[in-house]
Amino acid sequence: MEHLIEGYRVYRKKRWPELRALHQRLAKVGQAPRTLVIACADSRVDPATIFNAGPGELFVVRNVANLAPPFEEAPGFHGVSAAIEFGVLQLKVETILVLGHAQCGGVAAALEDRVRDPHSFVDAWISLLDTAKARIMGCAGDHSTALEYESIRVTLENLATFPFVAEAMRTRDLKLVGARYGVADGGLELLDAATGAFNPVL
Ligand SMILES: [Zn+2]
Repeated sequence: MEHLIEGYRVYRKKRWPELRALHQRLAKVGQAPRTLVIACADSRVDPATIFNAGPGELFVVRNVANLAPPFEEAPGFHGVSAAIEFGVLQLKVETILVLGHAQCGGVAAALEDRVRDPHSFVDAWISLLDTAKARIMGCAGDHSTALEYESIRVTLENLATFPFVAEAMRTRDLKLVGARYGVADGGLELLDAATGAFNPVL
C-alpha cells in the first residue's frame, strides 16, 4: 500500500493544483461524459491514458476481457448491465466504445482446452466468449488475436440486445464502436462497421 500512498502524495502535490478548478466544477454540475468505455480490467490497458482523457470525460466499465453480456431478465447482480443502463439512460452517452486489447489473458483463458470449473466466476464469465470462439475456430492464423477481434464484434452485438440501447440507437443516434489496443506498440485499431475490418488509427 505504501507505493499507492506515495503516488497519491505526488498526485496531490503536482497534479491536483491544476485539476482543482475542473474538479470543483464537476462536483457542482455533475458528470456529463460523452463516452461509455467497456475495457478490460488488464492493468496495461487504461482508457484514460490511451485517449488522453481527463476527469469527467469517460464513463468506464472494466471487466475480464472487456465483455458485455446479452440482455437477460434473470435475477442476479448484473454489474456490467447496470453500468450500461446508467450510462445510456441517465448520462445519455453519445457513444459506447468496446475497447479490446492484444495479449488479453481472459481471451487466452477462453481458448484453453480444459474443462471449466463450475465454481469459478472467471470460467462462467468467459463463457460469454463461446459465440465468438465458435466463429473463429478453423480460421487460419493466431487464434488469440482472432478471438480478441471477434469478441469485440460479439460484445457489440450483445449491447444491441439491450432494449434501451437499441432504442437510443434508433431515437438519438447512440453509436456502438469497437477498437483494439496493441499493448506492445501502443497502436489503436478501429472497427469499420461497414466492412467488419479493424483498421489502424493513423
Ligand atoms: Zn484483457
